[in-house]
Amino acid sequence: MNWREYIRPVTPYVPGEQPRDNRVIKLNTNENPYPPSPKVMEPYDFPLRKYPDPTAGDLVQAIADYHGVDKEQVFVGVGSDDVLGMAFLTFFNSDLPILFPDISYSFYPVWAEVFQIPCRSIPVTEDFTIRAEDYLGENGGVVFPNPNAPTGILLPKENVKQILDGNRDSIVIVDEAYIDFAPEGSSALSLLPEYDNLLVVRTFSKSRSMAGLRIGYAIGSREVIAAMQAVKYSYNSYTMNQPSIVWGVRSIQDDAYFREMVQKIVATRERFTAALQDMGFRVLPSATNFVFAGHPSVPAREIFEKARGNGIFFRYFSQPRVCDFLRITIGTDEEMDQVIRFLRENLDINPKKLYH
Ligand SMILES: *Cc1c(COP(=O)(O)O)cnc(C)c1O
Repeated sequence: MNWREYIRPVTPYVPGEQPRDNRVIKLNTNENPYPPSPKVMEPYDFPLRKYPDPTAGDLVQAIADYHGVDKEQVFVGVGSDDVLGMAFLTFFNSDLPILFPDISYSFYPVWAEVFQIPCRSIPVTEDFTIRAEDYLGENGGVVFPNPNAPTGILLPKENVKQILDGNRDSIVIVDEAYIDFAPEGSSALSLLPEYDNLLVVRTFSKSRSMAGLRIGYAIGSREVIAAMQAVKYSYNSYTMNQPSIVWGVRSIQDDAYFREMVQKIVATRERFTAALQDMGFRVLPSATNFVFAGHPSVPAREIFEKARGNGIFFRYFSQPRVCDFLRITIGTDEEMDQVIRFLRENLDINPKKLYH
């Protein structure tokens, strides 16, 4: 027996770079460029001596009220990564493969590996959309982001419903990290009364400007949430720290500010998309706070590296199909103006190369 042979085999998820230099225009990890509501940051004297409420009751209640569900239908965790990991651990224990899109959140295959869950990635179509029909065979569960990342494309609710209808016997996880930037009514939350196998996962990291606090949650049937709670309390009872509980509640309470910031980012996204198209970029239709764009005559990697050298950080993925694109987070209007200026000055597009 040699312990080295029994180390759990894993290839970890690689998060986007977090440069120390505050002068960079950081558009590589889909953070919100605006601060959270000023009400969130009002003083509060945390009793740090004491353990936090293990149920994070105040936060759970605030989320439940906000979405009009019972508090027994809400699970909270340390970012949606923690919530998704818990869901994988709780539900994906059959011998059948779980299904997710091949171009998708790259953490899904990592959890599948660390928890030793069989999995199969389903290719998205030529135009990068998820085809509901591809998810209807027998499986151990289904998970996909909606809108998808890194493409930004929203799967219409009737197609989400189609996936749920074909998977009455599996848990279907819809990862709605970016849904607040999509048109109203796009969320799968309204389908919850019809499907007790649906789990909708959300985060405070993107639309609520609180990536640094680590707050995520899931909404599902009471039965599904109770199963997740049992696993969570078998692993770590105190996942939510006291500041996260208090500041999370305050964020939910200032809905006007939240909506205003989301609207602002959506407006900037539309303006930035038009500017990119003007320069000849192909931009996938985004319902998120980022765009996935590539240029037909300048390699994405070249733009990525040149931008990085100029203190502008995009996200680049080297895998086939997506290697022709850059994922660019929507920053402030000023930041996006600087990006547009940089691209205009540095693309070096030779018209002959473009049109011959
Ligand atoms: C950002 C992101 C998450 C995780 O966000 P947390 O910060 O852990 O809440 C989950 N899924 C997708 C698709 C994301 O882009």
